[in-house]
Amino acid sequence: MLRVGVTGGIGSGKSTVAHRLGELGAVVTDADVVARQVMEPGEPVLDRVRERFGPGVIRDDGSLDRAALAGLVFTDPEALADLDAITGPAIAERVSHLRSQVAPGAVSVFDMPLLVERGLWVHEHVSIVVEADLETRVGRLVEQRGLDEKDVRNRIAAQASDAERRAACDVVLDNAGTREELVAAVDALWRDRLEPWNANLVHGRRTHRPDRGAVVNPRADWQARGSRIVAKLAAALRGLPVTEVSHVGSTSVPGLLAKDVIDVQIGLRDLADADSAAFREAMSRAGYVLVHGNVQDDPHPADADPGGWTKRFYGGCDPADIVHVHVRAAQSAGWRFALLFRDWLAHEQQERDAYAAEKRRLLALDDDTGRYTEAKEPWFAAAHPRAEAWAAATGWTPR
Ligand code: ADP
Repeated sequence: MLRVGVTGGIGSGKSTVAHRLGELGAVVTDADVVARQVMEPGEPVLDRVRERFGPGVIRDDGSLDRAALAGLVFTDPEALADLDAITGPAIAERVSHLRSQVAPGAVSVFDMPLLVERGLWVHEHVSIVVEADLETRVGRLVEQRGLDEKDVRNRIAAQASDAERRAACDVVLDNAGTREELVAAVDALWRDRLEPWNANLVHGRRTHRPDRGAVVNPRADWQARGSRIVAKLAAALRGLPVTEVSHVGSTSVPGLLAKDVIDVQIGLRDLADADSAAFREAMSRAGYVLVHGNVQDDPHPADADPGGWTKRFYGGCDPADIVHVHVRAAQSAGWRFALLFRDWLAHEQQERDAYAAEKRRLLALDDDTGRYTEAKEPWFAAAHPRAEAWAAATGWTPR
């Protein structure tokens, strides 16, 4: 089951997107609907709201007086925090229950205005932010929904900024145009990415880098993509004996041409922990497929014991974003080299340029991805002592 977060500021078009995903076959859980449900008469949450905020927030028929409650919490951060503490856990519990009922083969969409503010995006495989500029949003809400303009502006000011949402979201849908254009963008996203991704998850099929032409000029979003993937994996593995999760490989080195692949390293206290049911299940839930038999990197002459270069390897299932996950024992030679390689090349421009030149030379000879990857090995082996010398000279330690 693919988990998809949909977010955006009020009036951005978030509900329009979630609704369309529902029409395409996804099962949508709407956080606003759930937030209303937990405040219905008879719900324990409503009793606690009455206890905290007084009888003035309850109407004669026993239902919540939303305007009265909004008036109390709007200008009082402490009151708002209290309200969140009362409602938040009940909403989270109901959302999680509803999503646990979604059929395993379906796409599960979480329509959540505060997906980013609450840090919940880390639990989704992919998150979508819908964007429209401020005046467009205000105009739509005032004209089409009849909301009060000042109220709308205040609510927008209290929400996360577009930049904060962009940092957390994998897909940006621009809603500056017509509704039809937005719906067409959702349809394309569904067809090209969400539906095949979900099918890959259901069938345990990972996605592969292209056989040729995999190496590209440095992309501006590699660092941000890497950070999001790392944050999601770290969240999925919480509670397991993981020492750290890091973006490694060439895409983690700013400015280096590379295969368009995000390499991630997971450090474990003991590689045997990678074979536990708990670790495997967490990786599967996070959307990664174990590649059996890929357990050994080529040892470098500088540290030639093959035992230091063992690993487990997982591949991601996103058709648009190839992810390779290397699971290694913390402090092992292979683990150390991955972190050293990244930091050394990031700091040593001459070495970075030399490596880029070597990549170009090899690509000109043969751009078959597999053979190119193998042809780079001698460069790594020769570079390893230089990287270690740099580490000794600078006092570098793996972080
Ligand atoms: P949100 O859920 O982000 O608050 P909605 O999807 O409800 O936003 O959209 C806000 C309002 O603007 C709704 O009345 C919706 O029908 C309308 N709307 C959404 N997208 C467009 C668009 N591209 N052009 C015109 N109106 C739009």
